Amino acid sequence: MGKVFDNDIKFVSGVGEQRAKLLASELGIRSMGDMLYYFPFRYVDRTRFYRIGEISENESSTLVQFRARVTGFAPSGEGRNRRFKAFVSDATGSAELTWFKNVRWIEKRLQVGVEYIIFGRPSFFRGQLQMVHPEVEEVMSARKRPEGLQGVYSTTEKLTNAQLGSKGLYNIICNLWPLVESRIEDPMPEQLRAAHGLISLRDALYNIHFPQSPELLRRAEYRLKFDELLGIQLNIQSRRTVRKNRYNGFMFPRVGDYFNRFYNEKLPFELTGAQKRVIREIRQDTITGCQMNRLLQGDVGSGKTMVALVSMLIAADNGFQSCMMAPTEILARQHFASISRMVEGLGIEVHILTGASKSAERRASLEAAASGRAHILIGTHSLIEDTVQFDNLGLCVIDEQHRFGVEQRAKMWTKNAQPPHILVMTATPIPRTLAMTLYGDLDVSVIDELPPNRRPIQTYHYFDSARLKLFGFMRQQIALGRQIYVVYPLIAESEKMDYKDLTDGYLSITQAFPPPEYITSIVHGKMRPDDKREGMRQFLAGEAQIMVATSVIEVGVDVPNATVMVIESAERFGLSQLHQLRGRVGRGGEQSYCILMSGEKLSKEARARLDAMCETTDGFQLAELDLKLRGAGDIGGTQQSGLAFDLKIANPTRDVQIVELTKQVAADLLASDPNLVRAENQPLRELKARYASREERDFSMIS
Ligand code: ADP
Ligand code: MG
Repeated sequence: MGKVFDNDIKFVSGVGEQRAKLLASELGIRSMGDMLYYFPFRYVDRTRFYRIGEISENESSTLVQFRARVTGFAPSGEGRNRRFKAFVSDATGSAELTWFKNVRWIEKRLQVGVEYIIFGRPSFFRGQLQMVHPEVEEVMSARKRPEGLQGVYSTTEKLTNAQLGSKGLYNIICNLWPLVESRIEDPMPEQLRAAHGLISLRDALYNIHFPQSPELLRRAEYRLKFDELLGIQLNIQSRRTVRKNRYNGFMFPRVGDYFNRFYNEKLPFELTGAQKRVIREIRQDTITGCQMNRLLQGDVGSGKTMVALVSMLIAADNGFQSCMMAPTEILARQHFASISRMVEGLGIEVHILTGASKSAERRASLEAAASGRAHILIGTHSLIEDTVQFDNLGLCVIDEQHRFGVEQRAKMWTKNAQPPHILVMTATPIPRTLAMTLYGDLDVSVIDELPPNRRPIQTYHYFDSARLKLFGFMRQQIALGRQIYVVYPLIAESEKMDYKDLTDGYLSITQAFPPPEYITSIVHGKMRPDDKREGMRQFLAGEAQIMVATSVIEVGVDVPNATVMVIESAERFGLSQLHQLRGRVGRGGEQSYCILMSGEKLSKEARARLDAMCETTDGFQLAELDLKLRGAGDIGGTQQSGLAFDLKIANPTRDVQIVELTKQVAADLLASDPNLVRAENQPLRELKARYASREERDFSMIS
């Protein structure tokens, strides 16, 4: 896409070594191309000028600009606490501008009596209009600026301190543009552009940064979304063909003793129709000679573990080993315990390996895996390490996919010379078409049926002030012999505040539920693994009626006697996390409850999340709503969602039509020219390379 895009960003005037380093570390921008593809996240209409008197509280969520004259200054504070205030007014009113940073710089620039254009976010204090860190520009010099829609770029505090706020980034792009403008090569063949009404890449990039009109902005967005989604489709579709052709999958034709004895003697319940269907789909995949790469979606509690276990037994029947990777220590231990129990007496050897494994356990597991004796190895991320070697790994199950990065998944491929079958399980359902489009090269299976006799969980939202009522309800449930989770948010492992909330919460619960009548266990990420295990054990064994925990218990924990899930500060959790947590109860035959605790002050989105939780227990419905509430940025985030691709501009929920269209275009192109070697298709190879996911690159390294 033009070599000029690869040039280092530091050579653009106004950047230089220091800022280039910051751009790289803060935003991942290294080259001129990276900068050019750093798009505004929204636009403001800089043609509109307000009068101060027109600005009211209604405008406090938008950016506004007005012209005003400086009437005076008020510097204050010393050293790090220095701040600077300027007072401005026009014929209709006055405003107060404040700077906490770069005080000296702004102090030198402003002069009393001069008229400036002031641009920023308004706020009000005792009816007085205020702005913190507005942009200011002399009216005289501003005339040169292009009028119209102006991009707003997201930035960071560190960048802002280095004069690289939104405006600073905009200025860099202004300086960059003349360097690259005439050298932008268009990867879209003329014929495709004509067929789909696409403007040139040069015009698209120009108008995304400097929209000449709303119409041109719309066409620029369309063109760039089209590029992005077509690039992704070309990767997904050609990779699928390569995999199907190149890799021989291991063959699991036999259904033997391990499976049959388990099914006839051990299985404690009848499988649901959906479980049976998914097992059939997996069977299909593993007898074709192609390598399976399957995503299994099923709501929390739908019984995915059983599907995994059955698949692993069939692998064993065919002489292959399996591994199962879980996102947390607790969950891995729990899988290990329940699977060991379920296969007892069948001659299946199950091992475990986690970061917390003591050296004896570690040695035994590594040896059993490498020698081929272990049929099943269960563990955490540790399974990825190079020290873990198998004799003949035939199936790799990855539980709760969204917790693993795509790269980690790809890494499991390299365990053998020939990649094992891969089964990825997730309880975060995203709409099926979306999954197929975005989860890269995965086939999708869905368990859309819960085991019978499950009563829908009742969900209520209480404000913190209703805590006494909550405690009363908890007492009632405990008197009935039930157990209760109380969960505190843990946004980042390092957040001290969260742990304070948790320990304060534990204290107040042990006061309200004093021992020896009540036993409360506690489990969180900062505990020593042994203590954590003991906390879990107490609760699993029914010795503790209450378990206070951080969201580490979010995934997988299975205690059928637990019927109440109390989620503290529920407004701080995302919708899918709330749903996951709720799925920890309602696993036995008893009526279960989820109580969402929150403060009285709630944002609109938080309110919508809590309401949705009270209204439905359908994970798919919640997932759709979640996508709507969160928008594109978050879905694209590979870490969060496990999606294979980062999306910069397209939003798969909103741009469904472009998704469908580009899917078809890619299919047609690849059908007639699978390797894009025809002269007119050559540029598309650049497009494809540009949007190759990280996973794709890993893949090409080993193929
Ligand atoms: P998830 O899909 O959330 O991983 P699990 O596999 O943990 O769900 O299953 C949830 C609970 O349902 C477990 O206690 C499991 O033993 C039970 N279960 C699974 N399949 C069935 C079934 N067909 N009938 C009854 N109970 C089932
Ligand atoms: Mg599970």
